[in-house]
Amino acid sequence: MRIALFGDIHANYEALEAVLKDAAESGCTDYVCMGDVVGYNADPVKCLERVQSSGWPVVKGNHDEDAAGNHSLESMNPVASVALQWTRDQLSDDQREWLRTLRMVRQIEDFTVVHSTLDQPQSWNYVTNKFDAMSNFSYQFTDLCFHGHTHVPRIFVRDTRVREVMAGSVVIEPGKKYFINTGSVGQPRDGDWRACYVIYDMPSATVTFRRLEYDLKTAQEKIVKAGLPEVLAERLAEGR
Ligand code: ZN
Repeated sequence: MRIALFGDIHANYEALEAVLKDAAESGCTDYVCMGDVVGYNADPVKCLERVQSSGWPVVKGNHDEDAAGNHSLESMNPVASVALQWTRDQLSDDQREWLRTLRMVRQIEDFTVVHSTLDQPQSWNYVTNKFDAMSNFSYQFTDLCFHGHTHVPRIFVRDTRVREVMAGSVVIEPGKKYFINTGSVGQPRDGDWRACYVIYDMPSATVTFRRLEYDLKTAQEKIVKAGLPEVLAERLAEGR
């Protein structure tokens, strides 16, 4: 079984299509979504319909929760809050209800998925270093856990201690635990504009990161045309 794991799509349909095409061509038969289907970019409905109609396992992201709710977005940064209000207006009641009922954590095959962290999934904490990762590992009962949220691809490993290894290709070794951020499909923030996801090849116990060019120009034009803040189009090109 070869599984594509991807998240933080953020309503970027061009990036999502590129990922799904690459995953199919790479022999993936199963797909798992790490959440944040919507928010920031211009195609929340198309991205949500694509994910929802597939029946893939999905966990809830903070933008999914915010788009589904009616609470004030004032505490959020202004650009994200403008985009989220716009997103709320695009989605139907049924689509918002679907987002609202997504689960926070799922166990699939021999691994776990969560949008942020396993220690307090509903707090949406960011894991940016090994100390943040330590808190997660205390609650991780599978050898392998995939997550998203920071939009930065990362691999944390725990054996006798917790350390970070390069986010390239890693063989999952027995007796160790792995907490892997799959990066972002639709708004990478590691300085590389290309869409990011991972392939987990179960027979060889290998996790491999993939980076893909996509139709950036179209995605940017849609953002501007929708009247969303132009900085959202600019940041896509910069990968931040
Ligand atoms: Zn996100």
